[in-house]
Amino acid sequence: MQFVKGEKYVCMLAPSFVSMYEYPQIIYRLRALGFEKVVEVTFGAKMTNINYYEILKTQKDRTWIASPCPTLVNMIRTKYPHLIPNLVPVHSPMGSMALIVKKHFPGYKIVFVGPCLTKKMEAEELGTVDEVLTFKELNELFSTNNIPEKITEGKYYVTFDKLYNDYTKIYPLSGGLSQTLQYNKILPKKDILVTDGIVNISKILDQFKDGFYKHYKFLDILSCEGGCINGPHMDCKYPIKERIKRVKKYKEYASRFEKDLGRSGKKIDADGIDFSRKF
Ligand code: SF4
Repeated sequence: MQFVKGEKYVCMLAPSFVSMYEYPQIIYRLRALGFEKVVEVTFGAKMTNINYYEILKTQKDRTWIASPCPTLVNMIRTKYPHLIPNLVPVHSPMGSMALIVKKHFPGYKIVFVGPCLTKKMEAEELGTVDEVLTFKELNELFSTNNIPEKITEGKYYVTFDKLYNDYTKIYPLSGGLSQTLQYNKILPKKDILVTDGIVNISKILDQFKDGFYKHYKFLDILSCEGGCINGPHMDCKYPIKERIKRVKKYKEYASRFEKDLGRSGKKIDADGIDFSRKF
């Protein structure tokens, strides 16, 4: 990726970032690289959840399948096209956040940075995200542009821009979506199935009958084992257990110390945005 002179860039950082980078140094490094704004995708995840909640509450005629994972979506489109109507017709956190960013930062080029390769296909399909960089590609950019691990220059010392959210910081963990959905008023826990990995999800998709998988109402499934913290383009020295710990620790830290910084996204900030999506 090249930063073009005269253009302004906003980086939408996937919440899995903390399983491999140091916070807040990573934000300073992204600013030093050339991003004028850096936002976390967590507010997009919150709006995705709000829209899931409405569908799961009102439409109980099938087993719904979570749709933020483009690898899973592609798998359903190619191998299980009869299950396309089961995919929740709502944007992924990346897609939702891109719509929010377009509203709040008009004129900026939008770049999503995360651990996922198939997000490139999703971005191409949606047309709202200008470029997708994987963490591996980001590390290459840091290296070719001589961006150090530790930034000491004051002008880059700014953490995330608006709008973000605390509780969806665990979204990249397997089951993170359903854990942050606040479903207890609409679904008993036993109606939700959480799993990950291609082998496990293939077995489930094979066993659908007449739009349902057993008694389940919602499948929170991801194609990478353990979730996005184990995405194909993580470039990470930490084992999975440590990555999970780091995500949880960051969530705790942010909810304690960053809650009142005035940058949390509220429903009103997404007023007028349609988060629905067709598959
Ligand atoms: S589970 Fe893997 S393939 Fe799916 S969205 Fe996450 S990183 Fe991408």
